[in-house]
Amino acid sequence: MKDTFKHKGMRKQLMEVVASKGVTDKNVLSAIETIPRHLFMDSGFVDHAYQDKAFPIGADQTISQPYTVAFQTELLHLKKGDKILEIGTGSGYQTAVLCELGAKVYSIERQLELFKKTSNFLPKLGYRAKKLIFGDGYKGLEGEAPFDGIIVTAGAPMVPKPLLNQLKIGGRLVIPVGTDSQIMTLFIRETEKEFKKQEFGEFRFVPLLEDKN
Ligand code: SAH
Repeated sequence: MKDTFKHKGMRKQLMEVVASKGVTDKNVLSAIETIPRHLFMDSGFVDHAYQDKAFPIGADQTISQPYTVAFQTELLHLKKGDKILEIGTGSGYQTAVLCELGAKVYSIERQLELFKKTSNFLPKLGYRAKKLIFGDGYKGLEGEAPFDGIIVTAGAPMVPKPLLNQLKIGGRLVIPVGTDSQIMTLFIRETEKEFKKQEFGEFRFVPLLEDKN
């Protein structure tokens, strides 16, 4: 697990690319500059780690594009100590970004292989999520609700009701909605029953899958 000056230099450039695409939150940009993304990918692919691209991580899944991770994180408006639920732990890169920003992170993954690999890997880098859970993210995490923010990192054909119900008043759900491609969508819970919805353009994610386990 090596992190060299060369990697750090490439990371600074990646941070600048992400900023040039419109991400302005200083803390988010600093997290991109800090986290050794190459360690979240198999060692043969180091050259790909600092390009602004998604990449396969096994089990037919991908590590999200850095710009997408930064954009979604920025939409959460998170503050230190916020309780955040992530759906789709995958490689754990997004989880690490949330930890880096001081969030208390709960993250759910439905692929056993990825769940095991990432549960073992994240603490080695010093990133300690509150809980990593093997399960179905469609249901959210009732026992730990309500959350300040929920971030879904797979394409959802529709918005799962439990996720809206598990937000605090004022809480934010960031979710890419759609089948072939997705519209990045933000829901803010304004009252017990009312949600404000905003849309932020087209993205492409691997699908949020139901009922495998
Ligand atoms: N945040 C990840 C992105 C991984 S891709 C990263 O930064 O690497 C999306 C992930 O969502 C995959 O790992 C996939 O297995 C997972 N996923 C798909 N459907 C799910 C569901 N219903 N519940 C939990 N995780 C799910």
